[in-house]
Amino acid sequence: MMDSESSNKDCLGWAARDPSGVLSPYNFTRRNGHGNSKYPLVPGHEIVGIVNEVGSNVQRFKVSDHVGVGTYVNSCRDCEYCNDGLEAYCVKGAVFTFNFIDADGTVTKGGYSSYIVVHERQLYQNFPQRAYLQRF
Ligand SMILES: [Zn+2]
Repeated sequence: MMDSESSNKDCLGWAARDPSGVLSPYNFTRRNGHGNSKYPLVPGHEIVGIVNEVGSNVQRFKVSDHVGVGTYVNSCRDCEYCNDGLEAYCVKGAVFTFNFIDADGTVTKGGYSSYIVVHERQLYQNFPQRAYLQRF
């Protein structure tokens, strides 16, 4: 638990600074550093998990697939960039995984949660199925 004074201070973490994987101290601002947080805020992007349910129109994924979600969870799905698979460059603006207003007007909530709902265009499956993931 943090009080409001300490939550505005810099945070100490451990970071890899090169491909060696050796971690060293790293200071950064964790709390509302950009001043645009929409509270309550559920952060977390670049999520991995297991598909629990799919919609009737989903074609690329099935229940039990191990998947990842990147920095974006939605886009217009209709502009030239979206149609080329470059949703991050969507002319209407890609929707960030958390702290962003989605097309339906809701604020997106990130991956520090028990599940997330994502359009299949924003899911990725290119990592080993043997990766240890547990269904909740
Ligand atoms: Zn688009």
